[in-house]
Amino acid sequence: MNDIPDEEIKVEALTDDESEIWERLADYGLHLNHDFPYQVDVLFPVFQGEETRGDLRRKTELLTRLEPTLENLLLPNERVYYVARGVQQSALELIFVGALWASIINQTVFILTSLRIVMLRCNSRGTPAGVGWVVFYSEIRNIRSRLLGTLDIQLSDGKRLIFGGFSKVDREAMPEILAERRQAYQEHGFAPECDSSRQNLCCTCFAVVPDRKYECENCGQLFWRPTELAGRSMLFPAWGDFLMKHYALAIFECFAGLISWILALFAIWLGEIGTGFGIILMAHGIDAFATLIIAFKGHHPRPARRRRAKNDSFDDDDF
Ligand SMILES: [Zn+2]
Repeated sequence: MNDIPDEEIKVEALTDDESEIWERLADYGLHLNHDFPYQVDVLFPVFQGEETRGDLRRKTELLTRLEPTLENLLLPNERVYYVARGVQQSALELIFVGALWASIINQTVFILTSLRIVMLRCNSRGTPAGVGWVVFYSEIRNIRSRLLGTLDIQLSDGKRLIFGGFSKVDREAMPEILAERRQAYQEHGFAPECDSSRQNLCCTCFAVVPDRKYECENCGQLFWRPTELAGRSMLFPAWGDFLMKHYALAIFECFAGLISWILALFAIWLGEIGTGFGIILMAHGIDAFATLIIAFKGHHPRPARRRRAKNDSFDDDDF
């Protein structure tokens, strides 16, 4: 991957704003690691006044939770400009998974760095959950803040991502950072080539893994094919979501599956054998289709031991 231009290395003394932000964090008892390459004047665009205390605390806690991931993710000289949490919205998932479950499994933390935007699926506390993507600023055609509080991200390859759940400060800050970073790209002649605007990231080494490749060439991490997950959900509803670590959704699917089996057995007991098998086929089919929709959106890791080098023999005893 292209390295960040040398001009981005921050060696100068802290500005007045940066000093004041660090002082405020200390005053409020909020700990942020000074050794991390945080661009605090961008990370905390609003920091004056007692009313900002809650926002400072939430962002500091999120950053602290992300630090183990940032240690592996950040490239030399790459700086953290902004972090925010949102929920990706998808009409298909609303229909087949339901609004509540879609909002739980689509929690996403955005990490805007000097080089790129990294999106990581996360749990409700903001801890990364193993699926991620990278988008270079040059691959974003536009970010618009909509009236209903959503953020509409239009990518250069024509895809469109819609996120809700961002605060007003986030919705104002992110388009500004995009504009500033795109200008920095142009000034440095930085134009990374991408197969698609939003590229899958390996959850282990954070290298890019191309679409339809299910093994990381860098570290050997293996990923589930969407059809493998959907096939398992067809056999047993919830299996695919258990493998994708959507445990709450998977337990719900188990109950829904159980109800469909009881109804099917009841129909068979009444002599309606075709209806009974039809109920099972429909229930399992809907679950498999929902799994397929979810699985296609990112690379979900397999719990397999990794192949460290091309000459090493593959060890699958962790299956
Ligand atoms: Zn990897």
